[in-house]
Amino acid sequence: MSGLALQGVAKRYATGTLAVQGVELTVVEGDFVALLGPSGCGKSTLLRLIAGLDAPTAGRIEPSPEARRDIGFVFQEPTLMPWATALGNVTLPLILAGVPKPEARARAMAALESVGLTDQHGAYPRTLSGGMRMRVSIARALVTRPRLLLMDEPFAALDEITRFRLNNDLLALWERERFTVVFVTHSVFESVYLARRVLVMASRPGRIAADLPIDAPQPRD
Ligand code: ADP
Ligand code: ADP
Repeated sequence: MSGLALQGVAKRYATGTLAVQGVELTVVEGDFVALLGPSGCGKSTLLRLIAGLDAPTAGRIEPSPEARRDIGFVFQEPTLMPWATALGNVTLPLILAGVPKPEARARAMAALESVGLTDQHGAYPRTLSGGMRMRVSIARALVTRPRLLLMDEPFAALDEITRFRLNNDLLALWERERFTVVFVTHSVFESVYLARRVLVMASRPGRIAADLPIDAPQPRD
């Protein structure tokens, strides 16, 4: 089950901030959903709740945290192990999942190939550009073949050209594999270009203010 259902979801931080409230949301399997809105409107909080990285203070989220192991998460800042190569970083989740090393390496190479980094598999993170590090992070999130990919402003730190290339590569990958995607962005362009559905969050009080289907054929390079 890679769809999502949220009912009456709210999150109040210990500081008293009500970051998210009244979220009713169903995401069907294979959809590509953008969470769009200004800084501070609760996008990251909602994504973390969906990922099970944090618990809601009210409401229900399906699948439950125990059933949410099948999730890939990409953070805004690539959190790569500096002591491991690109291949080592992408192999790690498989090793941790008990996949035998030769198979893990083969699958990690395939994941690196899918993000265009075959030639860089032996490079250490510090020697890679920001865009390449983000590609490694995406490969690492996808190598376990999750049915749900969550991304928190994955391209925000990249220059516009790198960002646009990554947008296109991600679209191509999604068209091949059709995993479910929910990603946070504050780029109107990116939300409309990538997603099939755009959820607009309101700055106050952390609600989904609009739910827009994007029907236009996806432009591709
Ligand atoms: P973004 O706008 O990119 O989501 P933020 O700067 O809002 O990033 O948040 C960065 C990190 O700081 C997140 O882990 C978030 O949970 C945490 N954070 C944000 N606001 C607060 C706050 N008022 N108190 C404590 N932690 C916060
Ligand atoms: P966005 O991702 O849209 O920028 P966030 O979900 O990061 O929004 O933040 C929503 C609100 O919750 C903001 O007011 C932020 O300061 C607050 N916040 C975020 N993380 C924390 C945290 N860990 N502790 C306290 N407040 C937080």
